[in-house]
Amino acid sequence: MSSQVYAQPRRLADCHMHTVLCGHAEHSIEEMVATLEASSLAGGIITEHLPLPDEVDSDRVVSMYPGELPSYVTALQVLRERSPLADNLVIGAEADWRDIDPQWTERSVADARAAGVEVVLGSVHMLGNWAFDDPNKIELWDSKDVDEVWEQYFTAWCCAASSGLFDVMSHPDLPKKFGYLPKDPREYYVEAARVAAEAGLLCEVSTAGLRKPCAELYPAPLFLAELARRKISFTLASDAHSKEEIGYRFESAVEALAAVGVTEQAFPKRDGAIDWLPLS
Ligand code: ZN
Ligand code: FE
Ligand code: FE
Ligand code: ZN
Repeated sequence: MSSQVYAQPRRLADCHMHTVLCGHAEHSIEEMVATLEASSLAGGIITEHLPLPDEVDSDRVVSMYPGELPSYVTALQVLRERSPLADNLVIGAEADWRDIDPQWTERSVADARAAGVEVVLGSVHMLGNWAFDDPNKIELWDSKDVDEVWEQYFTAWCCAASSGLFDVMSHPDLPKKFGYLPKDPREYYVEAARVAAEAGLLCEVSTAGLRKPCAELYPAPLFLAELARRKISFTLASDAHSKEEIGYRFESAVEALAAVGVTEQAFPKRDGAIDWLPLS
């Protein structure tokens, strides 16, 4: 008697993954793509950190070298040519919104798109030159008023979201990473959701927060509910910095989305197209 084994259908897409190029992730572009191909995911977007200026990344531990952008894109194009994922392997990048120099961000994103980057994530990791999510800069939190940091962050986030530069906003409530929480974040959520809806942006549901001291998804449940109420669509993101983190705990993200009535994920592709992938 023979038993038939059916392959699990591929589902969901991981829309945020890093490689060794940024200096703080573990695996090469080839290793990340091979792991994605071998996974049960339908596809994904490699989204390396775009080059940062020397004054914020002098040791090259946060972002790729400025000269690496063309070879990064070419490597992904070559891999895609022979990948069974074909167009479900998307060439992306994670861009930093710099509140003190929005024109720098504008040039950074323009350079990326000109080099062939197809999907750009917008991230606010920095207020001034302080990368508030950097574990090496965590002491600075103790000299800050937490409510003020959140206020500044969401002011910057709303500027970033309405800049027209990005396709997806990453980890929308990143300041909670180490557990520094404001007295009441609800008005930030309401305003951020209003701005994102007006801008027609996608937002991530990122499982990276589950691996961090905050121990919850980005965005928090109330924030997610507010974004969903505004009819924002969501990508799924592991923010993998190693191949083992690809698709990390996506069942938690799916569950959170189901709880706010969302039944499909957005998967941004080349040329601005969006695939809608069922969550169940
Ligand atoms: Zn990173
Ligand atoms: Fe990020
Ligand atoms: Fe990232
Ligand atoms: Zn990230």
